[in-house]
Amino acid sequence: MKTHNAILLTPEVVRGVVVKDSPGVYLLGNCSPETNTFEITYIGRSDKCLQKRLGSHNHTENCEYFVHLPCPDATEAFFLECYLWHALKSSPIMLNRIHPSSPEGTGMECPFCSTAKHFFQFVREREAKAKR
Ligand SMILES: [Zn+2]
Repeated sequence: MKTHNAILLTPEVVRGVVVKDSPGVYLLGNCSPETNTFEITYIGRSDKCLQKRLGSHNHTENCEYFVHLPCPDATEAFFLECYLWHALKSSPIMLNRIHPSSPEGTGMECPFCSTAKHFFQFVREREAKAKR
């Protein structure tokens, strides 16, 4: 990712650019002047307020920049976080070692961990619809 997409991670900047009271996902990292790229070191989400989460993040000391994406609800934020975590988990500079947890009280499963289960559920539902 090119550095021009990354935003300085300070409480003041976060308040100015991140919409309030919106769920969403974010990536934290640092910009490499040599390669002009944003090097992602942390993936996260907020189920309620991305601005609040980013404005007081505990990785501000080792991550200078962020990118973010507001989401319409916690479900989409969870799915996007899972997607990003699976895509980036093998990076040697990633700090996230534990799989993202589902939004509180939902019991949702990661669609990427349970692909086969969801595929068979989809097939069963399609067959049931075809019989109607
Ligand atoms: Zn997963």
